[in-house]
Amino acid sequence: MIIKKRNKNELDQFEALLSRMRPDHPKFREVESDYVRRKKGYIGERQVDYYLEDLANEMTILQDLNLSVEGKNMQLDNLLISQHAAYIVEVKNFTGSITFDTELQQFTRDESTQERGFRHPILQAELQKQRLQAWLQEMNLPPIPIYYFIAISDPSTIIKVEGNKEEIAKVVAHAAHIPNKIKQHEARGSNQQPIQHQKLGAKMLRACKQEYHLPMLRYGIQSQDILPGIHCPVCKYLGMKRIYGTWLCPKCNRKSKGAHKRALLEYFLLINLKINIKECKRFLGLESRTTANRIFRSMNLVYIKSKRSWTLPNRK
Ligand SMILES: [Zn+2]
Repeated sequence: MIIKKRNKNELDQFEALLSRMRPDHPKFREVESDYVRRKKGYIGERQVDYYLEDLANEMTILQDLNLSVEGKNMQLDNLLISQHAAYIVEVKNFTGSITFDTELQQFTRDESTQERGFRHPILQAELQKQRLQAWLQEMNLPPIPIYYFIAISDPSTIIKVEGNKEEIAKVVAHAAHIPNKIKQHEARGSNQQPIQHQKLGAKMLRACKQEYHLPMLRYGIQSQDILPGIHCPVCKYLGMKRIYGTWLCPKCNRKSKGAHKRALLEYFLLINLKINIKECKRFLGLESRTTANRIFRSMNLVYIKSKRSWTLPNRK
C-alpha cells in the first residue's frame, strides 16, 4: 500500500510566487529557473512512481520521505518495504548520456558539449542506506536488509559504463526495470524474521517531518514583495475588481464569482498559514469586514479564537 503519496505543494508555492512577483524583481529569474528545474524533477519522480506503484500490493511504499537522523534531515525519493527488506529508490533526471566509471569512482554527464562531474549518485544512495540504518537504531528498531537503486527517469537517457558494467547494472537502471530488480531480490527471500512492513511504515510516517517552508525566505524575498490582489482565471491578469459581489477583470472583462478562493490559498502558501480580517482585506482588496467574513465561512476556514485569525481545516 502507498501510505505516503508525493505531493506538489512546493511546486504550487513556486507557481504562486512567480505569479505574484514583479518580473523585474532581482530574484525573479533565479526563482523561475529553480521552478523549471524542480518541475522537471517532479515529472521525473512521477514517471518512476508509475512503475513502482505496481509493487503496492505486496509492499508498503512511502514517497518523498523526510526523516531526521542524528539531528540532520534525510530525504528519500522512495522507500519500499517488504517482509524481507527495504528498498531505497532515488530518482535522477538527466538528458543526453551519463557515464559511470567504476575504476575512478567517477560520475559524469554529457550535456551535448561539455562533460560535467556530479555528486556520485551511488555514493549518495550508499550514504542514505547508512543513515536509514542509523535511524532504525535511533528508534530502537532492529536492523533490516536495505538495498538501493538509482532510477533514471527519462527513458531516452543513455547509461554508459567504463569498467565493471555488472556492478553498475545491479543498482542503476531506467525506471521501467526497477520493479524487476526489486522482485529479483524478493525472490531470494531472507532467513531473517519477516519484517512487519505495515507497522514499520506507519512508524516512519509518524516520524516524517512535514514542515511548512516558505520558499521566498530562501531567496531573501520579503512578504511586501508578494503582490496582493486577485488573478483573472481566464487571462491571468492580477487585479480583478469586486463589483456587486463578483469579480470583474478590467483587462478581458470576464466575471468570476470565486476568483478570491485561489488568492486566499496562495496567501496560505506564500505568507502565513493563518489570516485575519485586516490582512484579508488588504490581500484581496476588499472594502468591508462583512465580505471578508463571508468569504472565510464560504471556504469553511476554521476560526482560531486566540489569534483572531482564520486557517484552513486540519491545520493548527
Ligand atoms: Zn482577464
